[in-house]
Amino acid sequence: MKSFKPALLAAALALFALPVMADPAHPKIGFSIDDLRLERWSRDRDYFVAAAEKLDAKVFVQSADANEQKQIAQIENLISRGVDVIVIVPFNATVLTNAVAEAKKAGIKVVSYDRLILNADIDAYISFDNEKVGEMQASGVLQAAPKGNYFLLGGAPTDNNAKVLREGQMKVLQPAIDNGDIKIVGQQWVKEWNPTEALSIVENALTRNDNKIDAIVASNDATAGGAIQALAAQKLAGKVPISGQDADLAAIKRVIDGTQTMTVYKPLKLIATEAAKLSVQLARSEKPTYSSQYDNGSKKVDTILLTPTPLTKANIDVLEKDGFYTKEQIGL
Ligand code: BGC
Repeated sequence: MKSFKPALLAAALALFALPVMADPAHPKIGFSIDDLRLERWSRDRDYFVAAAEKLDAKVFVQSADANEQKQIAQIENLISRGVDVIVIVPFNATVLTNAVAEAKKAGIKVVSYDRLILNADIDAYISFDNEKVGEMQASGVLQAAPKGNYFLLGGAPTDNNAKVLREGQMKVLQPAIDNGDIKIVGQQWVKEWNPTEALSIVENALTRNDNKIDAIVASNDATAGGAIQALAAQKLAGKVPISGQDADLAAIKRVIDGTQTMTVYKPLKLIATEAAKLSVQLARSEKPTYSSQYDNGSKKVDTILLTPTPLTKANIDVLEKDGFYTKEQIGL
């Protein structure tokens, strides 16, 4: 044991005890997504990971499967892995205050992705202009049905976007309500944006109103899909204008066959790429460029809001030009 050097051993052990050092050249990013089972979010994931890897970052992805406890546990797991940044698509906007505080205590930056986390010390928020999306949905439906009975099919009550979309929708609808052209005969939020829930809500609304619903302002394509099934059962699909958002492939087919009036296209590659860039900049202590600030109840959050595009049968080719779908997928 002549070569045994206690001092060397002590030094080696001390090295193990050191916290994992951040390596700004190769940042580690945690991406906690509400629900990867949905078409939209798995595309966000793919684009985000590709963009982050191009910037020499490593991404750890987790799906909370629409479960707030699971999401909190996953965020805690990302904190203990020593990531530099955590990007979160919150399932429930109002329950992450403590999880975010823990991350911040550990020196981790937190980015709110697409949906705003409320009452928490987040570093940045990136999304599309959801108020504009709401305005586009209401305008699209109002153009097709300038008069009559309206039903408002809102998004998940746990999602701040649902509320902002409604604000945008009401901006457009209020003048038509005030002058008596349209009447809101019912409105409901759809738990977890669930299509089956949307179907039964619209079924009940039709029954209650003797099928006298002339238009539905639906807040996304998934819920519009459920609503259109309820309309179809009453032979009303294609006769009652209805909105959506996301440009889901199923919705694009409905827009082409005339059962859905419009959708809103949000280029997911753009938000994912911008979010990856933003996260890497935060990890490297660089200064990202923000477009505005957004109050989340505890602070004014630095924000990037991207521009959505309303989509009808008339401009559906935008999707192909933008590489969102191939011509074959759209079936044109
Ligand atoms: C997103 C929509 C999506 C919905 C359901 C919202 O927060 O902005 O694009 O359709 O969540 O996942």
